[in-house]
Amino acid sequence: MRDRGEVAFLGSGSYRWHAMAPLIDVDYADLTDAQLDDAILAGRLRERVVDVSEETVLARRRRGHQRLHELTLRNYAGCCAVCDIGDRQLLVASHVVRWADDFDARGRLDNCLCLCQPHDALFEYGYWGMHDDGSLIVRDPIPWRGIRVLLAGPPRFRMPQSHPPAPLFLQQHRYRHALGAR
Ligand SMILES: [Zn+2]
Repeated sequence: MRDRGEVAFLGSGSYRWHAMAPLIDVDYADLTDAQLDDAILAGRLRERVVDVSEETVLARRRRGHQRLHELTLRNYAGCCAVCDIGDRQLLVASHVVRWADDFDARGRLDNCLCLCQPHDALFEYGYWGMHDDGSLIVRDPIPWRGIRVLLAGPPRFRMPQSHPPAPLFLQQHRYRHALGAR
């Protein structure tokens, strides 16, 4: 079933059934920006083709990623969710669950946080994570003062206008980095 994309692997032998709502395959169709945005906002964009060597598929996927990036920045009012950086060149759509781990999480806005590059890197490597309510968990101890400064406080996570990070995805991130067992 996993190979057919009907279930998602969560690690530790657990699986989750995919939602039954019709999904839109970005790999097979040339969608307009508006169609891509609608699909992303409805949580229905999906990447299916495993072999991405085909140039058309890659191009379609890239457009999907660009829209997801754009909608993520918009959702967080063009600002990093944990600091005041609003320079678009420094902002990324940071994925809570890594793309390789869950196909269905790829096109989902509730798997994307708008973060500046430093906070994105620190999130990706598990220096910080979040409880379901958005309170930050900071790894302790952190031997480098430069990193401690970036996570001092700790900063408050500003929830987005819509599509807040899904508890299931945050849980997977905490689990992967052994953060905040509570
Ligand atoms: Zn930041």
